[in-house]
Amino acid sequence: MTVEIKATDTLVVGAGQAGIAMSEHLGKLGVPHLVLERDRIAERWRTGRWDSLVANGPAWHDRFPNLEFAQVDPDAFASKDEVADYFVAYAKKFDAPIRTGVEVKRVVRNAGRQGFTVETSEGIIEANRVVVATGPFQRPVIPPIAPKSASLTQIHSADYRNPAQLPEGGVLVVGAGSSGVQIADELQRAGRRVYLSVGAHDRPPRAYRGRDFCWWLGVLGEWDAEVMKPGREHVTIAVSGARGGHTVDFRRLAQQGITLVGLTKSFDDHLVKFEADLAENIARGDENYLSLLDAADAYAARNGLDLPEEPEARIIPADPECVTHPVLELDLAKAGVTSIIWATGYAVDFGWLQVDAFDEKGKPKHQRGVATEPGIYFLGLPWLSRRGSAFIWGVWHDAKHIADHIVTQRKYLAYYDTPQRHMDAKRVESAEGGPDDSRVHKVSEMGVN
Ligand SMILES: Cc1cc2nc3c(=O)[nH]c(=O)nc-3n(C[C@H](O)[C@H](O)[C@H](O)COP(=O)(O)OP(=O)(O)OC[C@H]3O[C@@H](n4cnc5c(N)ncnc54)[C@H](O)[C@@H]3O)c2cc1C
Repeated sequence: MTVEIKATDTLVVGAGQAGIAMSEHLGKLGVPHLVLERDRIAERWRTGRWDSLVANGPAWHDRFPNLEFAQVDPDAFASKDEVADYFVAYAKKFDAPIRTGVEVKRVVRNAGRQGFTVETSEGIIEANRVVVATGPFQRPVIPPIAPKSASLTQIHSADYRNPAQLPEGGVLVVGAGSSGVQIADELQRAGRRVYLSVGAHDRPPRAYRGRDFCWWLGVLGEWDAEVMKPGREHVTIAVSGARGGHTVDFRRLAQQGITLVGLTKSFDDHLVKFEADLAENIARGDENYLSLLDAADAYAARNGLDLPEEPEARIIPADPECVTHPVLELDLAKAGVTSIIWATGYAVDFGWLQVDAFDEKGKPKHQRGVATEPGIYFLGLPWLSRRGSAFIWGVWHDAKHIADHIVTQRKYLAYYDTPQRHMDAKRVESAEGGPDDSRVHKVSEMGVN
């Protein structure tokens, strides 16, 4: 049986990892709240990704601090369903007040009084505060250069599930971040002819000197970086936990049979043109890879860490033919390419949130998730407070900061000055014929709930 809720102090929208982390911290701090989720808990992990996806980080790292994965070895990579199950178990652990199957359709600030009116698929809810935890990756983006040709099957990586879903024939995968490389690899292993369009990327080693790159980024303080390095805004990261985890190595993908091409420039019906930047993109990726090895070695030396040396990690093989003599133009029909997968990222969609918390480009305006519109909070967005913000472990810490902020605001609103306290005490005294401190306290608490 569901109980109708018409008002809550803090409404959290979305029950992915961000919404669950938020609920845990609010619950611990005694903030009355409700989480609304339009689908199921962690739906995007459950059904919003391809079938074979595993976490990019090992299970000891890609989790919340208060619960380990029950069925996954700490050094292994949890499957997408194991990640979804983990969050369901986590929410259950502290009995998170989550209502599933309820969509938030509109949020507007109340005029002349505190809080927000929230229109949901199940009616109106009043909330003093709203935490937006609807995900960093909401709307798949396909660039406008996509060809109009009806004979080509085109999907975004968000809609890719497995090789059998695509018509027979070759595939052009555009984008070589973690999604693009993993999908290209899977398609090639399934016997497809694959072209992979590679732009600017970072490609950290999966592991070095016995430690996963997640560990290295942690001890080197890189997960905590507060701003992107200038000029790196469009640089994607290529990592993979697939098949037990391995370093993304574009030369190895080429040896395997994938044809690497540069950034996809334009389409003229079936003719696609690529930038002549492949060798440079690969070289920059190598630089990033080697710089992490250097930083790791320096850290190990400085701290006297007894980790096994790994000189072979520095051996970079010669460039394959597709890098030295890149394909700059390809007739997709002649090459037998029947599908394009756009692994080109996502945008956010806040059309339902009608508050003063966005700049002229529609970007949320906030400081560590605390929006410019008082009472609105954003959680889970990339770089919300640091590099780790959109990732499993990072969002938990951002949620803590937001919960602390909410508690502080509630304290301000619960504040009664001395004359008010005296007035309340007098009212209670005259109503009941004697002073009663507990009543006075209760009145002030109710003022904020
Ligand atoms: C392919 C891929 C692989 C990834 N792998 C990793 C990884 O290995 N490790 C890692 O740490 N991170 C990974 N991430 C990044 C990040 O952890 C995930 O994107 C994660 O799903 C983000 O969690 P979230 O709770 O912020 O958002 P989401 O999981 O997107 O959850 C938001 C929820 O809000 C709900 N919602 C949206 N709008 C409304 C509305 N109006 N009303 C009610 N509910 C609404 C949605 O249904 C959804 O359930 C990956 C991302 C992608 C795309």
